[in-house]
Amino acid sequence: MVIAIDGPSASGKTTVGKLLAQKLDYLLIDTGIIYRTLAYISLHQGKDEESLTSLAKSSQFKFLSPDGISVDNQRFYSPDLFTSEVERLVPHISKLGRLREAILPQQRRLVEKNAVVVGRDIGTVVFPQAELKIYLEACLEERARRRFLQKGEKPATALAAIRARDNMDKTRSVSPLRPASDAHVIDTEGITPSEVVCRILKLAGDKCGFTVP
Ligand code: C5P
Repeated sequence: MVIAIDGPSASGKTTVGKLLAQKLDYLLIDTGIIYRTLAYISLHQGKDEESLTSLAKSSQFKFLSPDGISVDNQRFYSPDLFTSEVERLVPHISKLGRLREAILPQQRRLVEKNAVVVGRDIGTVVFPQAELKIYLEACLEERARRRFLQKGEKPATALAAIRARDNMDKTRSVSPLRPASDAHVIDTEGITPSEVVCRILKLAGDKCGFTVP
């Protein structure tokens, strides 16, 4: 079973995805980490589109606990992948069609058992047959407020950065961010991550007929 969770930045996908995966004892695959890693490699190892695409085609991506990823024998960890430099570059990397094509089989290969898969195009492109699709959203101001609480960024700076990334992710020609036609849209404003998880578990129970813990 695959539970796809898509949505814009700071809509709660990762927090909710982690809680849900823990609760169900599912694998968590946060595909944003893959794009962030490629942006980091481009920034620090000066790789262009061509070499990033061949890296994405030929390398083994493996999630490491806690909050890391290995690409063949190189390891990358969370704080380095969440800098504002990486965040500015990542939507430019993620709009590259050939690169996305190369990453597609990697993402599918990572799901070797029941999984919660988090991203922007999971329900529409990566796992269009996912048993349950969720699209999380919250207004821009609320998402900027969360960024301020998480990272201490000034609200106006956070708002401008999120708006710019949203625009690029939503308007790119390949795999733009949008809810799948059969996704359940949940507005996460004013509800806690645990409440969002409860709603998803209820949907999973109704839709897939399994008893949730
Ligand atoms: O979710 P997160 O903020 O970590 O994602 C970072 C960026 O990676 C997004 O802004 C988007 O450009 C890209 N991304 C994507 N498709 C995915 C996951 C992330 O294009 N499935």
